[in-house]
Amino acid sequence: MNLEDLLKSAPIEIMEARILAAHSLQWSRVQLITQNKQTLSTSQVDDIQRLFRRRLHGEPIAYLIGQREFFGLSFEVTPAVLIPRPETELLVELALERMTSNARVLDMGTGSGAIAVALAHTRPESKIFASDVSEQALAVSQRNSDRHQTAVTFFQSNWYEQVSEKFDLIVCNPPYIRAGDSHLIQGDLRFEPVDALTDHQTGLTAIEIIVQGAPTYLKSGGWLLLEHGYDQAHLTRELFNPSTWSDVQSWRDLAGIERVSGAKLH
Ligand code: GLN
Repeated sequence: MNLEDLLKSAPIEIMEARILAAHSLQWSRVQLITQNKQTLSTSQVDDIQRLFRRRLHGEPIAYLIGQREFFGLSFEVTPAVLIPRPETELLVELALERMTSNARVLDMGTGSGAIAVALAHTRPESKIFASDVSEQALAVSQRNSDRHQTAVTFFQSNWYEQVSEKFDLIVCNPPYIRAGDSHLIQGDLRFEPVDALTDHQTGLTAIEIIVQGAPTYLKSGGWLLLEHGYDQAHLTRELFNPSTWSDVQSWRDLAGIERVSGAKLH
């Protein structure tokens, strides 16, 4: 069988079938076109069809090919980490706008390291720290930092438990989906680490811990920026006490949804 026939018979979307075939054969986009009449070996066909079936059962493309692009960089992803989402690029943009040269930044719950590595790659002179409670996630994020030759300092911590220093900026994309939310049993989310998606409660408990703890670990004038769910902007803003914080605000993602909230410590 040749690639053209294999792609025609694919039980999944053609674009996805092409991505999986290219990954399995280690062929470039150009090879996919120029070599599409070349006869494939039985094992090549089997490997590709196995990927098609896994995709048909819902496994995310990013896990099947082991990578996802974020902020123009390719990140390794495994089922130990959340797949970086395009809306999280808003958080990176807002962080960059607030980072002075030599800024000390903490990315909590770094997962794949997407946020921390994107910041460090764009601003090599800054000092980026990143934490996660999951040892497996930290292994992935360290590899992503190495891949892009950034000098992010990773450490294991349950939110602020192992944090002792102060930062100019704290960023976080915490687990914010509420327990029982139907999104958790749909699409890619079924295959992602559940503790990265939900707090198993109201969806706001991690956000509360992060906002309440931040004044201890931010320098005066430092910013806290948090990603949250489509309906959590108002509740998140309310957590910022005006006697402690100024410039409390939310920002919309490309879909027009208030997706990141934050404030500046007095
Ligand atoms: N910080 C990572 C990201 O934005 C992981 C976030 C998470 O697992 N909740 O992709």
